[in-house]
Amino acid sequence: MERPAIENEIILILTQKRNDDRIQFMRIVCQENLNEKLFALYEQLRLQHGALMWWPAETPFEVALGGILTQATSWRNVEKAFENLKTAGAWTPAQIRATSQSELEKLLRPSRYYRAKAKKVRAFVEHLAKRPMHVMFEQTISELREELLSIYGIGPETADTILLYAAEKPSFVVDAYTHRLFSRLGWIEGNYHYAKLRHLFMENLPHDVQLFNEYHALIVRHGARICQKTPKCEECSLRHACVYYTEDLRRRTP
Ligand code: SF4
Repeated sequence: MERPAIENEIILILTQKRNDDRIQFMRIVCQENLNEKLFALYEQLRLQHGALMWWPAETPFEVALGGILTQATSWRNVEKAFENLKTAGAWTPAQIRATSQSELEKLLRPSRYYRAKAKKVRAFVEHLAKRPMHVMFEQTISELREELLSIYGIGPETADTILLYAAEKPSFVVDAYTHRLFSRLGWIEGNYHYAKLRHLFMENLPHDVQLFNEYHALIVRHGARICQKTPKCEECSLRHACVYYTEDLRRRTP
């Protein structure tokens, strides 16, 4: 009987992995039909989690602030910091500029690394005094990305979050959840490399804001609820196309 295509692919990936166990730099393992595969995966995730259409913030400034504050912490902690800022009347760029640094640190304390984050937020609102968001957002994606990356405290993930969720420009956001999921599925190997991982989506999907928004949201949801540090494979709709699951099953099968 002929073996299903997905099984053949997993066997090929496992063979490649055995032949090349020492890979450190991230590389994409399956190169063929990535567009189709990405869409199939997207549909599977949507079937499992439903439509999300998500970013839990209301204004472009709130999105950007959330993007800075959520670095290395949960959204729940960001919300606590948001509440502090709102209660203290430090909620707009001008209000934050008028807040002393020690007060800002105190308000941001729930978001962890609050001293560093207070500096980053300060740098961002100072930048906005010269270049308001609506002016910045008139630029092309690459110009805006470059400008965002030039601001202290804004790295690629935060820049792409602002581009996608605040400026509504099609810039795919990847993160540690994306790396873990795609590594386990067997699509990539090696250490996390933001630019290479983002490239996988940017090169193989149509540049569509709604699609990018939803796809990233689904990956985050899947990583937070199913493909956790200790994965809940039995609850995962992707398990029959997952290298990690297949290897684990083989190990457990006598
Ligand atoms: S089968 Fe397990 S390891 Fe694979 S994607 Fe699902 S939860 Fe993650």
